Amino acid sequence: MSTLGSEQNPLLVAIVGSGPSGFYAAEALIKSDIAVKVDILERLPSPFGLVRSGVAPDHQKLKQAIKLYEKIAESSDFNLIANVTVGSDIDVKELCESHHAIIFTCGAESDRKLGIPGEDLKGSYTATEFVGWYNGHPDYRDREFDLSHDVAVIIGQGNVAADVSRILSKTVDELKHTDIAQHALDTLAESKIKEIHVIGRRGPAQAKFTPKELREFGELADCIPIVLEQDMLLNSESASELEEKSNVANKKIYDLFCEFSKLDINSNKSRKCFFSFLMGPRELIGKSRLEKVVLEKNSLSGEPFKQSARGTGETVELECGILFRSIGYRGIPIEGVPFHESWGTIPNEKGRVIDNKNNVVPQYYTAGWIKRGPSGIIGTNRACSVETVTCLLEDLAKLDDGRKKQGAAAIFTTLESKNIRHLNYDDWKKIDAEEIERGKPKGKPREKYTYIDEMLSVTE
Ligand code: NAP
Repeated sequence: MSTLGSEQNPLLVAIVGSGPSGFYAAEALIKSDIAVKVDILERLPSPFGLVRSGVAPDHQKLKQAIKLYEKIAESSDFNLIANVTVGSDIDVKELCESHHAIIFTCGAESDRKLGIPGEDLKGSYTATEFVGWYNGHPDYRDREFDLSHDVAVIIGQGNVAADVSRILSKTVDELKHTDIAQHALDTLAESKIKEIHVIGRRGPAQAKFTPKELREFGELADCIPIVLEQDMLLNSESASELEEKSNVANKKIYDLFCEFSKLDINSNKSRKCFFSFLMGPRELIGKSRLEKVVLEKNSLSGEPFKQSARGTGETVELECGILFRSIGYRGIPIEGVPFHESWGTIPNEKGRVIDNKNNVVPQYYTAGWIKRGPSGIIGTNRACSVETVTCLLEDLAKLDDGRKKQGAAAIFTTLESKNIRHLNYDDWKKIDAEEIERGKPKGKPREKYTYIDEMLSVTE
């Protein structure tokens, strides 16, 4: 048989997950100097992962990454197989038979747990659920969020917490021309929330927002950001962290908090968004639903950049009607693929999957959040996927077992034998065009379909 990677014997790669890291891996493969065929498998009928259903609707610029993914998808070496779940509709073992290599780019679909009493009380939600709901993700379409209370609490001070609190802080007018799902806009229009409390377990020098995201709180139409001046006092370790040139983003964050601390707390804006620090959640309390959160005051200990939060024993209670845990995502395991339970990632070396004895698992690769954990911005995934694909291409000779692989044809045979409806990229483009059309009368970039059946019916 011809050499693997030649026109007669192209490298066949299955990518599991069509988010940014999946598309960047496809791009790196297609741009390589060997012949490849890439099949991206996607659980939903729609591609693009968190760029479609994670990035906040009022951050349309970030969604421009999709334009690049669309270019990649136009390649004749690219194939989308959507509405197919790897692990249930098709086994990883079957993909090993049909393809030379598999890259797992399935992201981090679950959440870290706080591990405190009352965490699962009605009224306490993960940020993932809320983000998925306002972004029209079919998994969260029918969730209900009761916004009839005065006070909302968000635990965590990363960019997801910023998204959730900003969406709660904005007026309908600020959101109605975005691609926010209509059901969410309707609920938010009735929101009675007056106070939003964004709680950090460490100090203002350690918040994980990016400056652009935090700055937006100073530009809201009807909500004022509030920071207490006394909270701006730093211990010497935090002060030295902010002096480091490499820590310029955190310095900007700290300066923004200082600006917020000087704003007039008696502003006539109808909502207030409080940023509070050095407080860790200890318990959520309520009879049949959430009524209050118990927070323990923390102090920091450790060297600069390694400071952790320690409880002081002093607690305060904050009454609230709804709470969102926004403390980071975690991956979920796929049957037959090694998984690091405590990290929520697929164990790997530079993207080569390894088993629990640190042996490389032939054919298996990984990229994106399921490889390195939930960190970085969309573009971070590009370098991550390039690293993985570089390793994969270095292994080319090992990936050739001398047997002819069927690639996508074998997947289609399996799916058809199980009567599983799968969509291709042209099908997605029909859904895409319909969504854009539905958005036009409302002045929205698109009105998303939020049920899988609706999406499938567009392609019939
Ligand atoms: P993140 O940036 O890791 O922030 C998690 C937050 O939760 C931190 O403040 C962390 O505090 C806190 N936390 C963790 N465990 C906790 C616990 N047990 N109790 C209390 N607080 C706890 O995670 P994320 O906000 O989910 O964001 C994930 C990634 O997506 C990040 O890289 C983010 O920048 C990116 N993202 C970017 C954008 C954007 O560019 N616009 C939007 C959304 C998300 P510690 O610091 O003390 O651990």
